[in-house]
Amino acid sequence: SLTIGIVGLPNVGKSTLFNALTKNDVLAANYPFATIEPNIGVVGVPDPRLQRLADVFGSQKIIPATVSFVDIAGIVRGASEGQGLGNKFLANIRESDAICQVIRVFTDPDVVHVEGKVSPRDDIETINTELVLADLQTLEKAIPRLEKESRKDKERAVLHKAAVAASEVLNTGQTLFAAGVDTEPLRELSLLTTKPFLYVFNVDADELANESLITELRELVAPAEAILLDAKTESELVELPAEEAAELLESIGQNEPGLDQLAKVGFRTLGLQTYLTAGPKESRAWTIPVGATAPQAAGVIHTDFQRGFIKAEVVSFDHLMEAGSMAEAKSKGWVRIEGKEYVMADGDVVEFRFNV
Ligand code: GDP
Repeated sequence: SLTIGIVGLPNVGKSTLFNALTKNDVLAANYPFATIEPNIGVVGVPDPRLQRLADVFGSQKIIPATVSFVDIAGIVRGASEGQGLGNKFLANIRESDAICQVIRVFTDPDVVHVEGKVSPRDDIETINTELVLADLQTLEKAIPRLEKESRKDKERAVLHKAAVAASEVLNTGQTLFAAGVDTEPLRELSLLTTKPFLYVFNVDADELANESLITELRELVAPAEAILLDAKTESELVELPAEEAAELLESIGQNEPGLDQLAKVGFRTLGLQTYLTAGPKESRAWTIPVGATAPQAAGVIHTDFQRGFIKAEVVSFDHLMEAGSMAEAKSKGWVRIEGKEYVMADGDVVEFRFNV
């Protein structure tokens, strides 16, 4: 499944945030036989539609879609020179499908800032520069080899040309994703800056409702998405019973934990959407890429469902809620029979018919 790598300078609150993420892990609750890996936190994507579905179908259980976060060691200025970013770091980050930068905004004098001062803009610049330099190194190594290969092979020439163009973009200091470069031909090079970024600003709790700060930080990284949270508070929230957690949230003027926002924004950044299934046993959200067809969606439940796909019975969540039951939705003609070509929409409530 798709994962988001968490990166940032030392002492910005990565571990604090990551510990909160793993304490909030949905695997233990819903997948008792899953292997829990120490550097991966799997969190549920909050979706109020699931409870409403469960009410209609009398489901015993709710299973949300998930997003996986991987803890990747810290980045420091100059990391891409000298000893390099480190093989483990590079391997972890290459395997991630998106990169979540944790940026320090909180102002605790007891916590040393590696660069001597709290400056979100400078820290983002430092991290982006390291990632850009790492990609340039990869390209510098690859380009002479690709040039040689492209003399004999037209397909390699395509990659060679794309690699040269990419290094020109990187030399202007931009990431490949931000520059809108078509990253498909570059795939085999596993470049870091082709991945989408999202930003977590770790702010003091009493700044969470500061509108001008929120606007300033959002503008700093737009069009990438940003959320503001207080990692320390998040680590406390996951330890509290629901009622006390709600009180703590209210006391800092928030109506939703930062981790919930992070899961939702992460899910969006990965280009994912969900469709829903429901029955007396469970109401469940399934993860598919935007643009997935009905058989591909069925394959997420089981590969046999994709192979033996016949048709899908589909009703939109909103129609189903308006009807109040599946039977009523059917009698209104809102339950459609869709075939192999159907492209799924977010919030489709589906039952698949298949051959086994
Ligand atoms: P990492 O190096 O990025 O993993 O940072 P840590 O999570 O280890 O945090 C470094 C120090 O900052 C620790 O002493 C944390 O308790 C503290 N810290 C982390 N997040 C916050 C925060 O939101 N507010 C404050 N005041 N301190 C924090």
